[in-house]
Amino acid sequence: MTRLYSPGESGRAICDQCGIVSTTYQYRDVPFSDGRGLVKDILVGVCNCCGAVVAIPPQSTPAIKAQREKSEKPIEAVLPAIYVDALDLACYKIDSKSSAEFRKKLVVYYIHTMAGRVDEAAQLAEVIRTAPAQFSPSADKKTKRISFKVTESTDAEMRVVMNASHLNRTDVLKSLVLKINRDIIQPKSPKNLRELKLLAAVS
Ligand SMILES: [Zn+2]
Repeated sequence: MTRLYSPGESGRAICDQCGIVSTTYQYRDVPFSDGRGLVKDILVGVCNCCGAVVAIPPQSTPAIKAQREKSEKPIEAVLPAIYVDALDLACYKIDSKSSAEFRKKLVVYYIHTMAGRVDEAAQLAEVIRTAPAQFSPSADKKTKRISFKVTESTDAEMRVVMNASHLNRTDVLKSLVLKINRDIIQPKSPKNLRELKLLAAVS
């Protein structure tokens, strides 16, 4: 049964600090666990011993989801069509049944990796300069748009990569696709295949 809770009601939950505790439902402003952003005025179960938020009833989850979506940032770019095709081919090579969502996951994976290796990120302009001829602008100038929403932490990592590489957002995306081409499409056995297959499986 899905139950509607009211403020002042009591319950039981497990508190990380105190163990099994009795709780009281109260309206609170609750920060996201990654510290980025806050959901205002949601009903939560509060530990009667230490005051920590220890339970979130179903009625509060839509507000949390809405707030989380609001805190997502768009990553959008219009790229020469070959770049988007390469991205899709890489996804297909990793897992022929991968979902559309995996395209985003793969890009996010590369943003995250580059943000953790600023020396390598600094080389991204060189990656563009030495792109295979296939990736140079085609005569028909055909383009495709990529667009997805990422968390604030991925957006912050994107800015780290942009700073390290001195590239704008579009060129960072291009350079990541060129890396993906080099790591996944060209080799017989793609780099980090096992890890990437896992990523595809959960997307
Ligand atoms: Zn507690």
